Amino acid sequence: MNIVKAQLSIISMPLKKPFSTHLGIVKEREAIIIELWDREGEIGYGETVAFSSPWYTEETVKTAYHMQKDFILPVLLKKTFAHPDEFSREFSHLRGNEMAKSGIETALWDLYAKKRGKSLATLLGGTRKVVRAGAVVATQDLKRALTEIEKFCDQGFERIKLKISPANDLEWIRNIRREVPDVPLMADANSAYTLADVDRLRALDEFDLLMIEQPLGPTDLVEHAILQKQITTPICLDESITNVHDAKSAIQLGSCQIMNIKVGRVGGLTNAKQIHDLCMENKLQVWCGGMIEFGISKAHNLALASLPGFTLPGDLSPSTHYWEEDIIDPPIEMDKGKITVPSLPGMGFSVNEQRLEEVCRHKEIITTI
Ligand SMILES: [Mg+2]
Repeated sequence: MNIVKAQLSIISMPLKKPFSTHLGIVKEREAIIIELWDREGEIGYGETVAFSSPWYTEETVKTAYHMQKDFILPVLLKKTFAHPDEFSREFSHLRGNEMAKSGIETALWDLYAKKRGKSLATLLGGTRKVVRAGAVVATQDLKRALTEIEKFCDQGFERIKLKISPANDLEWIRNIRREVPDVPLMADANSAYTLADVDRLRALDEFDLLMIEQPLGPTDLVEHAILQKQITTPICLDESITNVHDAKSAIQLGSCQIMNIKVGRVGGLTNAKQIHDLCMENKLQVWCGGMIEFGISKAHNLALASLPGFTLPGDLSPSTHYWEEDIIDPPIEMDKGKITVPSLPGMGFSVNEQRLEEVCRHKEIITTI
């Protein structure tokens, strides 16, 4: 693959309803859409999932744009890649900035799959034709949470994830279990606790949660291992796993029983697949995490989640879950809690150029000249 031109577009779209965690509220979602052209005019699409502010990871839309424009694309435009796996090796000297890297790496994967006439899922080694969808409840109001859970269950979602913190954990989960005792329920704390909260976290054991995600610090592995020995609810790591080495360390230390794999957080599809393979070898379950993303990233997630180790429902939802109108065509749909893995070449969806133009705030073309 020889990339001759790249376009970076910053888009912005309001969510249908605010997404609220103890770290802040997302009402409007920005993202960077990446288009890579090869000599024959074929285009690969990627999406950078960093948020506007650094509440989830240290990256933002602005830092990712800077990395892509000033450090990644100038090198990429001078190189020839035989396979997208070469990307993460080529840019390993560029520390961190996984979401910036992932936005471009996933575009290379899309282009590579299109050139081969194969679906992304097929090239990654996917074995599933459909994946199981899961919804996230992110609100600070218990009544609203209960209403949403009921609605998501009616829509067919196969798992509910509740964003928790010490302000909305035990009482909320007790209420939810009273109303919907059998719903497959998990909690995501986004690092709202410390080891001093071990009694509070142990009290969650009686509610039969599928898992508790990232209870402790966002870079921690050691304290999660200590906590896991004191609670029966399986710990799932999200923020703490940013590369294959983190995943290896977490397995060796016993920091978690489950991993949430997010393509953006780990620098792209190649690294995501490696973490998946490592977890399978070590008998850890994995699922595909979401970033309140648009259709391009969602399509990449569907391809990844078709791999055999993705045994748990992910943060996978239809296009209309967050957006009035997505940027891909056709939109992603869910049927009775299942989403079909795209089978067309590349990511399997077209980009809706008119919609992309409507929500574009800034764009720039970068070429070799
Ligand atoms: Mg999480």
